[in-house]
Amino acid sequence: MEVFPLEAIDKIKVIKGIGEKTEKVFHKLGIETVQDLIEHYPRGYEEFDRPVPIASIQEGITIAIEASLVMTPKVKKIRNLQIVSTQVKDSSASISLTWFNMPFLQKTLRSGYHYIFRGKVIRKNGILVIEQPGIYQREDYYRLLKVLQPIYPLTEGITNAAISKSIKQVFLELTIAKDYIPKTIARDYQLMDRTKAIKEVHFPKDRESMMKARQRLVFDEFFLYSLALRKLKEKKTVLRTEYRMEERPECDLLIKAFPYTLTNAQLRVWEEIKKDLHGEYVMNRLIQGDVGSGKTVLAILSLLMAVKNGYQTSLMVPTEVLAKQHYKSLTGLLTELGISICLLVGSMTAKEKRETYENIKTHKVDIIIGTHALIQEKVEYDRLGLVITDEQHRFGVKQREALMNKGGNPHVLVMSATPIPRTLAIILYGDLDISIVDELPAERLPIKNCVVDTNYRPSAYRFIDKQVAEGRQTYVICPMVEESEAVEAENVIEYTERLKEALSEKVVVEFLHGKMKPKDKNDVMERFANGEINALVSTTVVEVGVNVPNATVMMVENSERFGLAQLHQLRGRVGRGEHQSYCIFVCGSSSKVAWERLEILNKSNDGFFIAGEDLKLRGPGDIFGIRQSGDLDFKLGDIFTDASLLKAAAEAVKKLTDNEVNNIFESNPYLEEKILNGLTGTL
Ligand code: ADP
Ligand code: MG
Repeated sequence: MEVFPLEAIDKIKVIKGIGEKTEKVFHKLGIETVQDLIEHYPRGYEEFDRPVPIASIQEGITIAIEASLVMTPKVKKIRNLQIVSTQVKDSSASISLTWFNMPFLQKTLRSGYHYIFRGKVIRKNGILVIEQPGIYQREDYYRLLKVLQPIYPLTEGITNAAISKSIKQVFLELTIAKDYIPKTIARDYQLMDRTKAIKEVHFPKDRESMMKARQRLVFDEFFLYSLALRKLKEKKTVLRTEYRMEERPECDLLIKAFPYTLTNAQLRVWEEIKKDLHGEYVMNRLIQGDVGSGKTVLAILSLLMAVKNGYQTSLMVPTEVLAKQHYKSLTGLLTELGISICLLVGSMTAKEKRETYENIKTHKVDIIIGTHALIQEKVEYDRLGLVITDEQHRFGVKQREALMNKGGNPHVLVMSATPIPRTLAIILYGDLDISIVDELPAERLPIKNCVVDTNYRPSAYRFIDKQVAEGRQTYVICPMVEESEAVEAENVIEYTERLKEALSEKVVVEFLHGKMKPKDKNDVMERFANGEINALVSTTVVEVGVNVPNATVMMVENSERFGLAQLHQLRGRVGRGEHQSYCIFVCGSSSKVAWERLEILNKSNDGFFIAGEDLKLRGPGDIFGIRQSGDLDFKLGDIFTDASLLKAAAEAVKKLTDNEVNNIFESNPYLEEKILNGLTGTL
């Protein structure tokens, strides 16, 4: 049989050992081609350390012990589980071990014999046990000592070992990985060879070499990103606008009509926007501001100015819940000014959509608020002069582009709450001018925080009862929708039932999660916004943008499972009105690191400070850690910890001549498509 060498663009089913079934599972992980597979980087490594004395082990840590069995293992049946348990000892102490559904161990593990056991130490009924430990003969274990074993992101139906094997197989056949970086740059920045880097990052020789390999790949990500931005910028720099606007008295009247005075930061940014809209060039502006800094007002004023200059406008948001909310508040404010607003979201019926398209096309509506539905082919705008995207970090550059292309170069305003320092923002949002709302409304009371363990729940519930009796509302966030065998964490469905029992009968408790039908979601959200629901048990669907100023308590279960940036966004759902607000972070873990991390939130309500502290705590060693930096996600790169690489890559791209840029794109015909796609969720 003839053997063809593998190519990066080949579908993975050409890889030996990957059949139809495995292929499908890989698809679930977003892996279609050989290239995708080798870019499925480990999320971390497991490193086998020397065994430790049993007497020294602590709860929550993964360790190895070298010990002998003091008894023949016992098998116990509980429902459909078969639990094998035994007791082992070394010269310092003894400990119990348990395994699930591995009854054969009763025969293979022998009393009196020595083994090395490696696993996580947990506490069960008050005593320490190691659950599901790996079992090794001494020689085998010592061979693995200090070797970094890749740990991959998994999905149901595939094991870590299987992924590792497939990637090894690729490396047997694939000799060269695709490289976009000009040789001169690779040399100037002392980058490891890309093919070698990819191999090393999967199966590192040692820690040092893995770090160098990772550096190369992170550089690549940032390089391509900067290249994409450069391309984008070339397309639109100094575009003269067809939509010059005049200042309008309605805007000042609206500012006077608000029940509050604008902060200095809001006023400053509003001046910047007005200047752009009035100027000769197309506006491309990012408004960055912490949660609760009042960005929506700026969007509303801009929309009003554009509409009063005769243009159509649109506001794109990442969720239907948020679209509805904006629709409601804008309708309340702007309808009496003779402005017509409509909603366009995926869950509308075909008939409703058709009518809406017609109203848009004939300019019967001035402001269109919606989700991705706004960029559907069928939507035809009429003199679209301004497009705004809220919570921009949830969209890709591509979607922003698509919305822009709907008009003849409309003005663009994007809003984001992701806290990043200005120096990085200039690189990451290189194609935009940046305005920062760096001030919270003055009369806002700072949120009171606490970090507690689950024993605190009864007090928390009494507190919620009291707040509800005073007319306030509460969110309770759980990480899961429903019960799962694989993950031990609170879920919305069960928790809601328990909370109904625990709270006073008068409290109306409902739940909300992403798997509900859009109509039901909207219904619950609306009733919560109207105050008909007092306590809302929810997943993180409420994370972005939701504004119910009467809600004063945010209780987050299993807070240890969330990133700090995400917790900060969740906390941003309260403290939006005149009442004192509270945030209760319930920590379901006894790990010291988890508590330290949450302590950062306890100490500060400032998004920038939190991002910085988070960074310190993670430290440069924690290189493949869980993503914490919010939504500015690259596959490997972390804009905070890898800031210097980001700067280097941006600098490298800047130094390229136009010719060199064209060369890169011409010799890689799919690159433009690939990088623009890759930017989804990034900018
Ligand atoms: P974000 O920046 O997170 O999008 P919003 O625009 O939703 O914040 O504003 C949060 C809350 O603050 C809203 O209830 C809004 O009405 C209110 N708000 C906005 N600006 C001010 C201000 N200058 N003074 C007092 N409250 C304000
Ligand atoms: Mg907002």
